[in-house]
Order: sequence, then structure tokens, then C-alpha cells
Amino acid sequence: MAAVNDFRRANADRRPVRGPSPPAVACPPGDRPPSPVGLTLSGGPAGIPVAMASLARPASMAASWLWLGYLGAGAMVIGCYYALPGEGGWVTGRAVAYCATSASAAVAVFVGLYRYRPRPWPLWALIGLAQLIYACADAIFCVAYYPQASTTFPGVHDLLYLAHYPVLVAGVLPIARRRVPGGDLPSLLDGLLAATAAATLSYLNLIEPRLDGDLSTLVAVGYPVADLVLFAIAVRLLLGLRRRPPAVALLAASLFALLAADTGYAIQLLGSGSSAGGPLDGIRLAGNLALGAAALHPTMTRVADPAPHSAELGRARLYALYLVGVVAPLTLAANAGKADTYMELVTAGAMVVTMALIMARMRHAEVRQRWLANTDVLTGLRTRRFLETRLVLEAARARRGDAVLALFLIDVDHFKSINDRFGHPAGDRALTEIARRLRAAARSGDVVARYGGEEFALLAARTGQDDLRAVGERLRATVAAAPVPVTDVTALAVTVSVGGAAAPADAASPAELVDRADRALYAAKTAGRDRVVLSDHPATPVNWPRPPDGPDAPVPTTRGGSRAARDSSRIREAGDLEGPGADPGGRGRGPARS
Ligand code: GH3
Ligand code: MG
Ligand code: MG
Repeated sequence: MAAVNDFRRANADRRPVRGPSPPAVACPPGDRPPSPVGLTLSGGPAGIPVAMASLARPASMAASWLWLGYLGAGAMVIGCYYALPGEGGWVTGRAVAYCATSASAAVAVFVGLYRYRPRPWPLWALIGLAQLIYACADAIFCVAYYPQASTTFPGVHDLLYLAHYPVLVAGVLPIARRRVPGGDLPSLLDGLLAATAAATLSYLNLIEPRLDGDLSTLVAVGYPVADLVLFAIAVRLLLGLRRRPPAVALLAASLFALLAADTGYAIQLLGSGSSAGGPLDGIRLAGNLALGAAALHPTMTRVADPAPHSAELGRARLYALYLVGVVAPLTLAANAGKADTYMELVTAGAMVVTMALIMARMRHAEVRQRWLANTDVLTGLRTRRFLETRLVLEAARARRGDAVLALFLIDVDHFKSINDRFGHPAGDRALTEIARRLRAAARSGDVVARYGGEEFALLAARTGQDDLRAVGERLRATVAAAPVPVTDVTALAVTVSVGGAAAPADAASPAELVDRADRALYAAKTAGRDRVVLSDHPATPVNWPRPPDGPDAPVPTTRGGSRAARDSSRIREAGDLEGPGADPGGRGRGPARS
């Protein structure tokens, strides 16, 4: 282990700050540090996270305007579609405008695939294939419809329209899943709530009326069923995500346009049948354009990248959930007096499912709140509050069971210089890695907590005075074992000072244990850092604080007291400390630490 003074000498000429700077070493390409949460770890060129790699990909001016030009040209074609008279020879022009728009979206997807080479490309290829099938269905529909201004139901075009759904789902479902790696349960539950409401309405109004039909039943029911699946995916694409690349927003818009048009089509089928040239065509064509523009937008490479997401129950989301939650009872109320048993059963079933989903949402929120209260956001370790609560409980348990308990306080040496040299984010990254190493060095039942800024604590049950040095050395050595990455290209040799104290049964109070570990840590700092110092303070029975009534009750410690008082007590009692750097006479105070 390189002595701290060596660091100081080696870096004296370029160090702008107090204290030595840990030496920087280049990070080998194969040993890249873990990426921050939300970025993918592998797959990018030379180990660059995918999200960063695709962000770094240069987008030419032409590329950034291509999608806008496509949207503009498409809007003009839609304008022509509605401007052309729907009779005589003009219908051919209409049909061409209609089919050209949907075909252009398929072409745009393949142009985007070729131009931007997204990863993974098969997802966009499936979306392009789905649009190709859709465009073929449009062409067949136009050929069948326009000569006589009517068409049979179900026609070949209906089968093709239905066939395009599974291909489209195969393309967009993995995108929705990849955007939230590891899942986002609240958004999933919210999406299921919305889907339950949509399914209730769809089933009662679009599907059930068709169920007593003939051969056409399957096809007629197929549309709303496929739409329900797409609806759930589209909601999932949008819900909870804080940042949406324009390509994702355009893709979601195209799905919602398809849903709206299909719902209108299903309603038309229930009535007098479908007809071309109405507002539904405009919605369909706009959806096609949105899909084409999504594929031509430079951000199409990022649609499947993990996105930061939020499960927060904001006001808008709360209102939306309320609305979808009351769909079933309102449906029943709207049909009061005329609802048959069948409708009552369906709405009752929807209410049961809705209630279960709301309960699951509440339970998840409660678990999450507890997790947040006990977990340090930066490092993922336990909080000081959690440690202190556990300390009281473990100490009481140790006393009852005639067992032992150890506490280690661990402070990063010269941490400030990392912040000063490489910036706060680099310091955060170092803290995260140090925390990971401490966690790895601990046993599974131990509590590892972030005690303060760059200070950690380990609470080890069933660890007595005899084991203190081995555990403390393991903590120190694990952190120092390899340079700690602070940027993508720099890693630093980082050391920690460790102070340890053990409590034999019915000896020390939790507060006294903390105080003794704290003094030992101070002695480790004073003695030159990068070492373990243990307290061998004789057991002093004191008044035990009663274990807290609830999990939130804090334990009294001396750490919140005045530093001057603590420092003076350290000097007085330095003789109680054993370790390579203990200062038995209490002289030679080291620098104050925080
Ligand atoms: P010593 O060896 O005496 O412990 O020196 P030190 O530089 O580690 O101690 P000092 O108390 O001078 O500095 C601690 C620094 O830790 C100061 C503070 O800015 C930094 N720090 C505290 N919390 C965080 C954090 O969450 N992130 C980052 N990046 N820095 C933090
Ligand atoms: Mg420090
Ligand atoms: Mg400190």
C-alpha cells in the first residue's frame, strides 16, 4: 500500500488543494466502471454505453430536416386527398393519395433503418414489415372500394389489416420493455388500470354486440382485441418516462392514431358500415405519417434505450387514474334500468380488477416509501437512520443472547481532493464504487450504511473483539485493492481509514459503541490514514436506552455533539486506543475530519 506521504510528494507540483490527491491511472478498456443507473452497460463501441454512443452519433443537417420535410409533404398529400372530389375519375387520385401515404410510411421505416442503422435493428424491421402489410391492405381496400363505393365485410383487406397487428406488436412491445429495464411496477399497474377501463368499454360496446354474429364475428372482434393490446403498449411507451426522444413520441402518436381510427371503424361496422373519405381516413393517414417521421428522425436509434423513469403519482396522473377507475361504475350508472345481467357481471368484474390494481398500487407505494427512507439514493447502502435503529435492536439482542456486536466507521482519505480535481460527479462515482466494495467485503447479515458524506459504517452482529482486526483489515484492503474509476478514462488509488469497536454483552450502550468507533477512526486519521485502529476501551455499563417504540425512533449518539467537545475527549482518552498509529500520550493531534 502506497503511503499517503508518497502520494503527497508525487503530486505536490500539480495539486491545487489541501491534502494529497490520489494518483490517477488510466482505466483499461476492458475494465470500464459500471455506468450510472439508467445507462446500458454494454453493446456500444469500445464499451461506450449504448445510450451515450447513440447520443454521440453525429446527425447531419439533412437528417435533422428529413423527417420534417416528410411530414410537410405528407400533410400536403392528405390535403389533396380531401380536396379531390369523391366521384368520377377523381377517385383514382384519391386512392393513389391514400395508398401512397401508407406506403410512404413503410418506405420511410426502411430508409431510416438503412440510414441510421439502429440497434437492435430487427425491431424497426418488424415495424416496417407491419406497415408494409398495412399498406398492402390499403391498396386492396382501395381497389375493392372505389369502383363501387362499397366493399364486402370481411374482405381480404380486413384479414391483412388484422395480420399486421401481431407483427407490429412484435416490434413495439420489446421497445416498450427495453425503455424501462428491470420493470416499472407502478407504471405497469397504471397501464393495466387504463387497459381494464378500455377493455370494459370496448367489450361492452364493440365486442359483445358482435358476439352473436356469423363468420364476420371473428374479424369484427379482432380489431378491438388487437387495439387493446396496442393500447396497453402505447400507454407503456409514454407512462412514467421523464424523457422521450421525438422518435418515441411520434411512434406513440402513430399507435394512438391507429387506435382512434380502428375504434371509429368498429363503431361504423356496428352501424351502417364503413365508408371512405371521412375524418377517420385523416386520422389513419396522420398516424402513418407519424410512423414515417419517427423512423426518419435521428433519434430513432434511441427508441429502445433505457430511459429515466418516474413512478411518481403526479396530479395529472392521479386525475387520469381516477377517471379510468370510475369507468366501470359510471358505465353501470349510465345503463341504470336497462343493464342486463351480463352487463352487470362484466362491470362488476371490471370493478373487482380495478380495486385489486389500486390496492397493489398502494402497497407498492408504501414499500417504496419505506425503501426510500432506509436507502441512500447515491450508493444504495442503508441510511444512517436505519443503522442507528438497527444498532439499538442488535445491541439489545446481543445483550439478551450473551453475544457480541461490532461497529466500524470508515472514512475515505483525502476525498475532498477527488472532488476538487475531477468534480463532484467524479466524487459521487467514487463513493458509489467504494460503497459497492464495502458491501462486497461485508457478510450478508451485516448492515453497511452511508454514515455521512464520505463516511460509511458497518454493523456486524456476532463479531467480537477478537475478530475486529480481521474484519477491519478486510474492509480497508477491499477498498484499496484496485484503483477506483472516477471518470470513463481515469481511476484513482483510494484508501480508507477504519475505526472499530466491539461491544461484549451487557457492556456498552449503542451510543458508547459509536463513540468508541469514532475515536478509533480519529486515531487512524491522526496516525497517517489508510489503516485500521481498534478501540479496546474497557466495558463500561451505562444506562441503556430502551429500544425505540417504532422503526423511526433514533438512537442518541455523541456524533451530533460539538466537535470541540469530541476532540477534547479524544485527546484525553487517546490512550484507550490500540493500533499502529495510536497516540498514547494524546499529543500530536491530526487534522480535523468531518
Ligand atoms: P480526510 O482524509 O481527513 O478524511 O480528508 P477528506 O478530504 O476526506 O475530508 P474532508 O472532510 O476535508 O472532506 C470531505 C469531503 O467530502 C467534503 C465534501 O465536499 C465531500 N462530500 C461529502 N458528501 C459528498 C457527496 O455526496 N458527493 C461528493 N462528490 N462529495 C461529497
Ligand atoms: Mg475523509
Ligand atoms: Mg469525513
